[in-house]
Amino acid sequence: MAKERLYLFDTTLRDGAQTNGVDFTLADKLAITHMLDELGLDYVEGGYPGANLTDSELFGSERKLKNAVFTAFGMTRRPGRSASNDPGLVAVLDAKADAICFVAKSWDYHVRVALETTLEENLASIRDSVAAARAKRREVLLDCEHFFDGYKANPDYALACARAGYDAGARWVVLCDTNGGTLPHEVEDIVGAVVKHVPGSHVGIHAHNDTEQAVANSLAAVRAGARQIQGTLNGLGERCGNANLVSIIPTLKLKPDFADQFDIGISDDGLHMLLQTSRRLDELLNRASNRHAPYVGESAFATKAGIHASAILKDPATYEHVPPEAVGNRRKLMVSDQAGRSNILAELERIGIAVEKDDPRVARLLDVVKEREAIGYAYEAADASFELLARRMLGQVPDYFDVTQFDVNVEQRINAKGERVTVTMAVVKVTVDKEQVISAAEGNGPVNALDLALRKDLGKYQKYIEGLDLTDYRVRILNGGTEAVTRVLIESRDETGEHWTTVGVSANIIDASFQALMDSIVYKLVKSGAPA
Ligand SMILES: [Zn+2]
Repeated sequence: MAKERLYLFDTTLRDGAQTNGVDFTLADKLAITHMLDELGLDYVEGGYPGANLTDSELFGSERKLKNAVFTAFGMTRRPGRSASNDPGLVAVLDAKADAICFVAKSWDYHVRVALETTLEENLASIRDSVAAARAKRREVLLDCEHFFDGYKANPDYALACARAGYDAGARWVVLCDTNGGTLPHEVEDIVGAVVKHVPGSHVGIHAHNDTEQAVANSLAAVRAGARQIQGTLNGLGERCGNANLVSIIPTLKLKPDFADQFDIGISDDGLHMLLQTSRRLDELLNRASNRHAPYVGESAFATKAGIHASAILKDPATYEHVPPEAVGNRRKLMVSDQAGRSNILAELERIGIAVEKDDPRVARLLDVVKEREAIGYAYEAADASFELLARRMLGQVPDYFDVTQFDVNVEQRINAKGERVTVTMAVVKVTVDKEQVISAAEGNGPVNALDLALRKDLGKYQKYIEGLDLTDYRVRILNGGTEAVTRVLIESRDETGEHWTTVGVSANIIDASFQALMDSIVYKLVKSGAPA
């Protein structure tokens, strides 16, 4: 039997941007759009053209997307105005977008109190706005705000709003649980009633997570006949968030009840990218990833030692509901006693370091990893630093060079043009082959200056690091107060396209950065087979 198509609509950039502390730049929005497109999302809602500068710029330019329908969000025309005489609506209609998603009230109480208009005028506004967008040849979606609360209060009117959108030519009528308080059995009942009036193939669900059931509510709506799910990456969204697509996608792909009945736009390869996609968003937002996130969290397939670990080693399926690799995750036996040992051995094997199972250095490496992780190092995130640590312990890392001293100076002053400028300069003393080299460099900040000075002259090793580039630099303060410890993660790349991450931890941000920089350079030398 042919499977039915189920569509996924991402609103990370619009509804997700309502999250406290989230402020996407234009570059962020473009990067996330391409990431979502790459993943295989059917719709990407970019934002609200006309509402702010970033969104207006985003919708002012063309984007080349492979799959995703790029969608603008806006309000239906204001009561008492014509569609052409509403500047907000005109901005949305003129946006460079493939589709337009209108939000409209569908709860009679809100129409009267918030919109201060008549029920009929609200229906007319829906009809006119949808028709205006259709006339501009846009695909149209209608978000029915507060649909479930509205339906409970006045089912006929809520249905009339949905019907008005559908009859005017909206491709999708999306039922929103705006306050997020509706429960799965209610969603299933109400969606079941709606699809008697609007075909389920035109009905979507937009759930908020205020009872921690946004994912369950989305799935309940699908069971009742809805064929579009709206959500965000990592469940981003105001208050308790939106339905988390990162949990919904693997559930739809890996659980037979859904996988046997539906096709979604995301391929198996896309599913493999899920963890990476989720982490990239966290990195972009400089947020710590949720270790306990279903499917993609570091702990999602982590089992503590003991009877479970030995069973897992015999047959992983005994304690896993899906194979971790399917979503790009890894099985993890926690770093402790026996299980930690096999974990370290597995990691060494993965990076190609041959070592005997009972080599005492493995136990020592395990102790050092545990000690260092306790003070803030994150080897899970810093593959290259872990590899260096392991190779050092096995005596495989030569002392290529020695930084005997460095000095970083930050100065703020008024320049000749009367402008306030900040100038940073770093001086580094390095001993290479018993010879001392002194290099100085100016940078746009202390870490940049230090990096430039350090890599200016490494004597005979210079040629090995020529293609080395720092691609990302992230700082996280690990505990509050004046005693805070800083963790720096640096991502590097070289001429072969390989990426790696290194870590440094210190109470001093320059010192932490220096450690991560050094690891990156030394890793590159090891990788290039530079002679001792
Ligand atoms: Zn919402």
